[in-house]
Amino acid sequence: MGIIPPHVIADLIRNLTTLIAQRRDVAHPSWRKLMLLTDSVAKLKSVGESRLAALNLMGIETIGDLLEFFPRDYMDRSKISTVAELYEGQLATILVSPTGNPQYRQMSPKRSVTKIYFKDNTGQLAISWFNQPYMQGNFKAGESYYISGKVVWGSFGLSLENVEYERFVDGEELSAGRIVPRYRLSSGLTQKVFRSLIHQALAETKGQLQDFLPDIILDSQGLCQRSFAIENIHFPLSGEDFYEARKRLVFEELFLLQAALIAAKGFLRHKVDDSKIITNVDLQPVLSLLPFELTKDQNKVVSEIVSDLTSGYALNRLLQGDVGSGKTAIAMLMCYLAVVNGGQAVVMAPTETLAKQHFEGFTKLFNQLGITCGLLCGSQKAKEKREAKDGVARGAIQITIGTHALLQEDVEFKNLSLVITDEQHRFGVRQRATLGEKGQHPHILAMTATPIPRSLAMVLYGDMDISTIREMPPGRQIIDTYSVTRAYHPRIFEFIRKEIEKGHQAYIICPLIAKDEDEEAGVQARNDKKKELTQVMKFAQELASGVFSDITLGILHGKMKAGEKAAVMESFAKGETKILVSTTVVEVGINVPNATIIMIENAERFGISQLHQLRGRVGRSDKKSYCVLVTDSKNEVSKKRMEAMTKSNDGFVLSELDLEIRGPGEFFGTSQHGLPTLMLANLYKDTEVLAAAREAVLKMFEDDGGEIKHNPLKIKIKALLGKMQNISL
Ligand code: ADP
Ligand code: MG
Repeated sequence: MGIIPPHVIADLIRNLTTLIAQRRDVAHPSWRKLMLLTDSVAKLKSVGESRLAALNLMGIETIGDLLEFFPRDYMDRSKISTVAELYEGQLATILVSPTGNPQYRQMSPKRSVTKIYFKDNTGQLAISWFNQPYMQGNFKAGESYYISGKVVWGSFGLSLENVEYERFVDGEELSAGRIVPRYRLSSGLTQKVFRSLIHQALAETKGQLQDFLPDIILDSQGLCQRSFAIENIHFPLSGEDFYEARKRLVFEELFLLQAALIAAKGFLRHKVDDSKIITNVDLQPVLSLLPFELTKDQNKVVSEIVSDLTSGYALNRLLQGDVGSGKTAIAMLMCYLAVVNGGQAVVMAPTETLAKQHFEGFTKLFNQLGITCGLLCGSQKAKEKREAKDGVARGAIQITIGTHALLQEDVEFKNLSLVITDEQHRFGVRQRATLGEKGQHPHILAMTATPIPRSLAMVLYGDMDISTIREMPPGRQIIDTYSVTRAYHPRIFEFIRKEIEKGHQAYIICPLIAKDEDEEAGVQARNDKKKELTQVMKFAQELASGVFSDITLGILHGKMKAGEKAAVMESFAKGETKILVSTTVVEVGINVPNATIIMIENAERFGISQLHQLRGRVGRSDKKSYCVLVTDSKNEVSKKRMEAMTKSNDGFVLSELDLEIRGPGEFFGTSQHGLPTLMLANLYKDTEVLAAAREAVLKMFEDDGGEIKHNPLKIKIKALLGKMQNISL
């Protein structure tokens, strides 16, 4: 194939640019002044060491970076108010001159105030600056200044607050008198300075901004050119120009992100080869063995998946369903189809405990159908592993269940047809792709119990179809949820005891790290595990020797070896231990239907989705179940979280509430998924552009056979991927 990989192209371009730059220096010394987008911002006038540091802190290294740092909002200075017109609360710009006689007062060694009076033809007003004595020198008598800010009532009548100012120079309007951008700046930079840098950069690099989106996309979407967009996002001349610019850049942002995600995951709609075509879709043999009827939603999902499986293209679907909604049964049914149609299936789970649990469930079912299941995980003995790998390679094991151990290079399948990842958000994109590569474009089903709002799903899983189970299996009761302070401990323990006396079991999720230890823990992250350990151990021992001294109690924490963990879990699953004291390692997917109460200590330390996951450990049968959130926190946000938890049992409702509490920025932000923060796009307002971008991305991949053929775009996406090393979706 004659396709040049993107990194080669990127290197070529880099070399060429350097070459050209070198030639210039030698042959045309005067060219040295010309600025390139790839040049350091240090080349700009008035960028010295400290401003350079401030810019770098904001992620701005090159002039190109600078131009791509978009405004946070704008001030409309297209209208200049007179002093007489001002009213409280207004964001206004006035054009005034200083009256002379600024007043300076030192209030304490560290505090000073500088008050300067300004006037226009209609009146005068005073503006105060704190701790900026040099302000006095910034306004010269006889000059005029644009001053913008919020109008407030001060002790000397109307004044302006948070002001920005600029000297009026006839015929050289920079920003006042128009719509003025404001940026999210790090300290050491003012809006005014930053604006002038952008202005300079735009002027110096005129004509260099290339468009990396293919014309065909620009035309079909009715988008403006990139150079126009960049100029007008910073300094729009009119509302329409701004709108055009923003639309283009929001599209671009969402387009790039989705294209990068798809590029990272490998493109979707592959035609499947003959060995993976599913023709036999009779599920009856499995259905008749399941101890329950499928719910309406489960049935719907099954038919969605089956219709993909029989389409001639590889299945590529995300199955979203709240904890306990019955995703495992779906996985079983699909594994069955893969096997009876002559292929192998693999199920990858994020923890060993979960993998073993699945293995047991699958074995019990599939033994009855003469289908062989195998297990592969880290804690197995070398011999066991070898046997499992051998069975998988020979095709003797038809359904393999395991952990990350499945990703090892020497795990080879004879004919891998279906790949299922359970709790898939626990795996990185790369890991899932690795597993997929063990088959020739196998069918892929990713399952998650972390529901996310629709628009977010569209971005994160742009390449996948999405199926959703919203309905819970019948007889499932609402888990009564309470939020209480630690003062309630005795009563909670009493309550737990009563549940155990009824023959049920309990989870106690332990404080991670106590608050006051937290600060020092930040310095040495390695200590966290140790502290977590002591904390759990201490708490568990207190319980074991105190209030629950007559009850068998298991302890589970992250520091234990996989084998130990499994043993503790197993004895809890069998009902030998009645109480499981655990850190969040228990969070994922564990199914012990006999557990009816979960108490979560220091609940303020968890996010909503994690609390909801934890709560999902109970209420897994028709027995009435309870969740007690224990917190002494008075923090507003955590109060809101507790309230949301006590109000709703529905993961989808909670995910929307979570979004509301945290705000879209943080919800989407790097902490959650390792994605770049969106500079412009707002997922909750720009849903139309989002949908259009998604369509365009899919069409491009479709048309170009799963590749990105347009070189400028390819380079751009490569760069973006470089910044998204650790994405986990
Ligand atoms: P999750 O979606 O969290 O993986 P599971 O697949 O573990 O949920 O199912 C939770 C419990 O619900 C299991 O005990 C399972 O046997 C049971 N279950 C699943 N589907 C149904 C159904 N249609 N009717 C009754 N119980 C069901
Ligand atoms: Mg599950």
